[in-house]
Parts: sequence; C-alpha cells; structure tokens
Amino acid sequence: MESSADTSASARVVTTPAEMHRVADEIRAAGRTIGFVPTMGYLHDGHLQLLRKARELADVVILSIFVNPTQFSANEDLGAYPRDFERDKALAEAEGTQIIYNPSPESMYPEGFQTQVNLPGMTNVLCGVSRPHHFPGVAQVCAKLFNAVKPHFAVFGLKDFQQYLVVTQMVKDLDMDLKVVGIPIVREKDGLAMSSRNVYMTPAEREQAVVLNQSIKLAEKAVAEGERDAARLLDLVRGHIATAPAADIDYVEIRSIPGLATVEGRIEKPVLLAMAVKFGKARLLDNTVLLREQPNANV
Ligand code: AMP
Repeated sequence: MESSADTSASARVVTTPAEMHRVADEIRAAGRTIGFVPTMGYLHDGHLQLLRKARELADVVILSIFVNPTQFSANEDLGAYPRDFERDKALAEAEGTQIIYNPSPESMYPEGFQTQVNLPGMTNVLCGVSRPHHFPGVAQVCAKLFNAVKPHFAVFGLKDFQQYLVVTQMVKDLDMDLKVVGIPIVREKDGLAMSSRNVYMTPAEREQAVVLNQSIKLAEKAVAEGERDAARLLDLVRGHIATAPAADIDYVEIRSIPGLATVEGRIEKPVLLAMAVKFGKARLLDNTVLLREQPNANV
C-alpha cells in the first residue's frame, strides 16, 4: 500500500464487493484510516476537492466510480451519462488516491437482489418530486458502498445538499460507524456549479446557466440587507432565473435544515435555498444556506 504522501502512484482498481471487503479489512487491520469519496465518475474539480478533503482526513483514500442504475428512472440519462475511466484514474492518482472501486452493475445488483433503503420524509421532496427513484437509489447504493469500503470518513459535496442530508440521516438511523463530511460547492469562474452534466448544454444554454448562481447571490444580498420574508426571496430568485429564456424551473424552494420541511413566512435561522432548473438536456442544481452563521464553512 502506498502512503498518502505519494501522489501519482498507480491506484489499485477493485471491481467486486468481495475484493473491496478484503482490501478494506487489510487497511483497517494495519491500523490505517479510510477516507471515501463516492462518485459516478467523469471527474471535475469538484470531485478533486472531495479527494483532497479525504486525503486530509484519512491515511488511505478510496474513490468509487459507479454509475448506479437504481438511482435513475427509465426516462433519465443512465445510458448517456458521460464516462471516461482512464482519465478519471489519472486525475485521481494525481490527487494521491490509492484505491479506485469500480464495480460492475451485475456485481452490485446480482439476480435476486431485494433490499430497499428509503427515508420517506426526506426523499419525496425537492429533487424527489420529479425523481422519485433517485434518493432511495442513492441511499441503497451508499449503504452498499459503505459496507464494502468500511470508511472512517465519507466525503460528499454540498452541491447535492439533499443527498448530503439523506446520507447523513441514513448513517445516523442505521448506526453506521463513519462520519459524513460535506464540502462547499466548487464553481466555474463565472459561478456555475461544476457538474458532470454541464457537458449536456449547448454554448447558448451554458452562457445563460449563470443565472442560477446570480440568483443565489441576489438572495444572499437581500438577506444581508435585512430581508426575511421567504415568499419575497423566492420571487426574487425565480424572477432572476426567468430572465434566461432557456431556463425551465423544476423547483426553487426554501426548506428547513436538516429535516427539509417547508419554510413559510419569516426565516429566523439557517435555511436551505435550493433549486433545480433545466437548460435543454441538463438539469442543474444549485443551493445556498441563507442566514448561515459562518460563510462557506464546512458542514
Ligand atoms: P457525482 O459524481 O456527480 O454523483 O458526484 C459525486 C460527489 O461529488 C457528490 O458528493 C457530489 O455532491 C460531489 N460534487 C459534484 N459536483 C460538485 C461541485 N461542483 N462541488 C462540490 N462537490 C461536488
């Protein structure tokens, strides 16, 4: 096993849950800690930040690359999801990743697979409304990945804030022995949140997609200037997004943290402002925590 100080060393690729169990057991038996970054691959700087955080927290970094079929509905982009394993491997190695877990769908979900994981109150709101299979699939795959990888830390991006809350709740409810760590959204220079799905946009759509981050900044500024009315904040955000002709709003909502309950009237404590907006074939997410005590703090 390479030490976490070595960068650009070749990573070991593990392809089955059984082998992953053995490798994780060996690492733990040697008294070393595991930092885990689950992804669907096609890595960008956001993913690399997660790897850096895992490296800071633990002795051994394990990256999973698995486009999980159970979190996609039949009409979604499972087949079209961008993939480039060799490029991902090189990028991960340059960040000091020692192990890449890249199981096949067949090894993850063999014939006869039965178990579902659901957190109804948190998975049927926000993204769960238009993607009912998504979070049960995410919770199911994360439970499987955590069982095989046996991490001490699992690092998630707050771009997918609902996912972060769902996984944190699952870990708590199921007494899983790991810490879920969230890191702030990594953005392009013009403010667009990085996403593997950004490649789906045409140049014109890509240009207009900046309205998401701009609308968030408008809401943050309004709150800084004293605005506390949830409905007025939502109008401000929706109004700005509507200035982009290509934008098709799925939702813009203000919800409580961590329970994701609807927030109406005055906001008095930190709340999540979250949005999903389609630009052509890309469905983009963005969010911020309004009334956050420490700007940009890790959650
Ligand atoms: P994905 O491969 O898109 O499923 O994402 C894998 C992990 O990377 C998740 O924890 C995401 O929240 C995180 N992630 C994706 N994009 C970003 C971003 N722009 N900033 C921070 N984290 C991100």
